[in-house]
Amino acid sequence: MALIVQKYGGTSVGSVERIQAVAQRVYKTVKAGNSLVVVVSAMGKTTDGLVKIAKEISASPNRREMDMLLSTGEQVTIALVSMALQEIGQPAISMTGAQVGIVTEAEHTRARILHIETDRLTRHINQGKVVVVAGFQGISSIRDMEITTLGRGGSDTSAVALAAAIQADFCEIYTDVPGILTTDPRLVAEAQLMDAITCNEMLELASLGAKVLHPRAVEIARNYGVPLVVRSSWTDDPGTWVTSPKPQGRSLINLEIARPVDDVEFDTDQAKVALLRVPDKPGVAARLFGEISRQKVDVDLIIQSIHEGNSNDIAFTVTTPILKRAEAVASAIAPALRSQSHPNTDEAEVMIEQHIAKVSIVGAGMIGRPGVAAKMFATLAEAKVNIQMISTSEVKVSCVVDAAEGDRAVAALRQAFEIPENQRIGGQGDKGTRGEKEQNLLSSSTPNSQLTTPPPVRGVALDMNQARLAIRQVPDRPGMAARLFGLLAQHNVSVDMIIQSQRCRIVDGIPRRDIAFTVSRIDGENTQKMLTQVAAELGWGEVVLDNAIAKVSIVGAGMVGQPGVAAKMFEALAHNQINIQMIATSEIKISCVVAQEQGVKALQAIHSAFELAGSEKFVVPA
Ligand code: ASP
Ligand code: MG
Repeated sequence: MALIVQKYGGTSVGSVERIQAVAQRVYKTVKAGNSLVVVVSAMGKTTDGLVKIAKEISASPNRREMDMLLSTGEQVTIALVSMALQEIGQPAISMTGAQVGIVTEAEHTRARILHIETDRLTRHINQGKVVVVAGFQGISSIRDMEITTLGRGGSDTSAVALAAAIQADFCEIYTDVPGILTTDPRLVAEAQLMDAITCNEMLELASLGAKVLHPRAVEIARNYGVPLVVRSSWTDDPGTWVTSPKPQGRSLINLEIARPVDDVEFDTDQAKVALLRVPDKPGVAARLFGEISRQKVDVDLIIQSIHEGNSNDIAFTVTTPILKRAEAVASAIAPALRSQSHPNTDEAEVMIEQHIAKVSIVGAGMIGRPGVAAKMFATLAEAKVNIQMISTSEVKVSCVVDAAEGDRAVAALRQAFEIPENQRIGGQGDKGTRGEKEQNLLSSSTPNSQLTTPPPVRGVALDMNQARLAIRQVPDRPGMAARLFGLLAQHNVSVDMIIQSQRCRIVDGIPRRDIAFTVSRIDGENTQKMLTQVAAELGWGEVVLDNAIAKVSIVGAGMVGQPGVAAKMFEALAHNQINIQMIATSEIKISCVVAQEQGVKALQAIHSAFELAGSEKFVVPA
């Protein structure tokens, strides 16, 4: 007998017949001996419809009244689902967010959950009733009783938060797709269903997975160790398990506004190999990393900065014991790259940097909160730590710094992000451990555990909604990244990939580097304008915008400690004559920026290179 939270999305409750089908499934689950809380969305496209009506009355409707309006959608569904259950003899009671006691911030239209009262719920469950709860809504406080909503798509968040609060055995998300697919089946017909994926992988695949499961819900599942499964409402198929670490006994107070950063990681014993001035054309990264993987050199971070003129810089980090081998490979290949490049360009050159360390902040709470990375850079600047390399993913920011400054950097970051001293430090230069930990999650918390080693690549995502900004000639001294990302955070611009060029050029007696980063395309132009205004004052060069980019990413916990994964991705692109403009990696993700018109082709090539393709056809609604 289990305590289960089931969530049904809008399509799953879109008509009388579908509501009756939901009631049947709920009834069957109860008859199998389980207790149930059911969370529902508004029927079909009800919420969209309400938004449309409001916009006809006011161009910018009052946010409080918007919440009053939109919360009605779910209220209709809970009553109907309860009636349908009662009709087939299943005792049930419907409850609004306020009636349950889902207490949120007083932020209308985008409130985050603070805590959930559980006694009313538990009382009804103990009386043998199914409690049907309105998703997407809460109240600002028990005293004020102001209705709030969590932001569009928020009922996933309601469901997982409820599961955490009542310590449910697991949470089932019923939707109109069979689970989580290896990529978007509308772009790659061979996309296949995954059995399981870890929360961290899911968060890194945000652009792929967000349509199925809201990242905020994944974040709560991860933080509280709620086993989660995404399943189709139309079948009894098992769906995809989204697994998480065992709960760490985290407090249920301030549920969604706990620390944005969970941990500060520190890897010592690192070295950097950089190839400067390699030709900017397809196949270069493939050649370099192909050779590196044949020599069984395991690389950690890889970054390729944007090109100046017609050449790029590629840099990667390795652990010190294998530096010699890595250096040998790079030196052997440099002349070959040089001979291909234009005779008039500078020559390719290998640069080694020893005694470096990598410090990273990790946490799902940084998604959509540009202030978090900015705070990391500001903290390092205050501690007078110069940042040599930056690499980012959805849930992690890593900075390469001088090894001698590593301890100081970690101490400052722990203090700034309130990470207790006794909390484990991840990594310590041992990537294997972290990877295994991530892999073990799959076996520990998947109820019907598929005990297989995770594949190096779980899924491939394409993001066509980004733009690239580059700032030329930023002075290379502590505090510059902090200034830049502080400005972006102030303007509420979320940054995705961030790359600093390897090459330092002396201009006006000051060493300078280029910094490039990607933002949402809608933020591109305003951000360029804003940065251009301050560039002269800060001593920066030109601010360049490129809207025609696409980002392809591979994600998989199984790539940790396995040489050759990056090479395979780059080779797939090279075979298709696709030029890589930027590369950034984290432990479980590798992203490449390519030209926009090659995005879909890149996605298809990579998906098939990793043998993710299958023959079963999956249709997802638009
Ligand atoms: N009905 C709300 C929306 O469409 C919440 C949800 O369905 O998740 O945004
Ligand atoms: Mg939804």
